[in-house]
Amino acid sequence: MPDIDLRSDTITRPSDGMRQAMAEAEVGDDVYGEDPTINRLQDRVAALLDKDAALFVPSGTMANQICLQVLTDPGDEVLLERSSHVFNYESGAAGLLSGVQLHPLDGDRGRLAADQVADAVRPNAVVAPRSRVVSIENTANKAGGVVYAPDRIQAIAEVAADHDLFLHLDGARLWNAATALGVDEATLATPADLVWVALSKGLGAPAGSVVAGPSSLIDAARRTRKQFGGGMRQAGILAAAGLYAIAHHRPDLSKDHDKAQRLAEGLATCPPFTVEPDDVDTNIVIFEVPTGQADHIVDELQAEGILLTPFGPSTIRATTHRDVSMTAIEEALQAIKAYVDRRLTSATP
Ligand SMILES: *Cc1c(COP(=O)(O)O)cnc(C)c1O
Repeated sequence: MPDIDLRSDTITRPSDGMRQAMAEAEVGDDVYGEDPTINRLQDRVAALLDKDAALFVPSGTMANQICLQVLTDPGDEVLLERSSHVFNYESGAAGLLSGVQLHPLDGDRGRLAADQVADAVRPNAVVAPRSRVVSIENTANKAGGVVYAPDRIQAIAEVAADHDLFLHLDGARLWNAATALGVDEATLATPADLVWVALSKGLGAPAGSVVAGPSSLIDAARRTRKQFGGGMRQAGILAAAGLYAIAHHRPDLSKDHDKAQRLAEGLATCPPFTVEPDDVDTNIVIFEVPTGQADHIVDELQAEGILLTPFGPSTIRATTHRDVSMTAIEEALQAIKAYVDRRLTSATP
């Protein structure tokens, strides 16, 4: 049996149709704004998110960092949820690149609430940092691919507007959120001043994200992208993969959610592992293992051909994606069940 790789939805390889589209892409020098395929991708994403303009960037991390740079001045403060990618997984970039302070709040399954944001805004005092941005993630990755519903985002946007804060939306998996909610991506993006979406997660493109917002902010973002070293040349080859993914892979995301639901239901019958299948909103399953054993269990399951990501001392993440089939999920569950029976429940005293 080949390995069943559930570490991340970033591990997918371009499909045959995507490689074909990449091979045939019309290209030009994008630093001159002359790559027709990048220009088409930017227009497509701007339209999907109902924004004036959009900008293709190499990665989601750069997308986040460009957004923060554009929306802040050094010394400003960014309110975000404690489990957010910006706070945990960007190598301290916000301090390095933009000189901002991050203010983590403890949300509900990775999500902020409007009143909590209002309470956290700093007073207008000479000693206080200036609260400038509230940053949210839809879906909330570390919390388990948790979806923010439109009314919750709208309420946060209203608080942000009341306090002169910008709303930044990390939409690495906004496609998944829209699929799970059965709404357009634009419905989720409209309240945000700057939003970005990833092409290289569930959509299955090899690289790239797209930042969208009003033209003035996207013009500023283009300059910041160059400062951060993200100006690419004939990257229309990558944009072609993104356009292909939006047209042909996006409709498959609901299958990833079905696979995650099945995986969670199966894991729920594998004590001592625990998981609440009702908490699985999209393509990410977070499950609990006996205290302190996550690394060890991930290593042992790897030897069985099941690849997972340790997400804490007693927590493991499994992510479904287009390169893992429902059959592979069933096989993974059988292997996990056999492993648990053999290794974890036999040691009863
Ligand atoms: C993956 C991810 C990012 C970063 O994207 P990269 O392309 O890996 O740099 C940012 N935010 C969230 C929520 C993510 O899941």
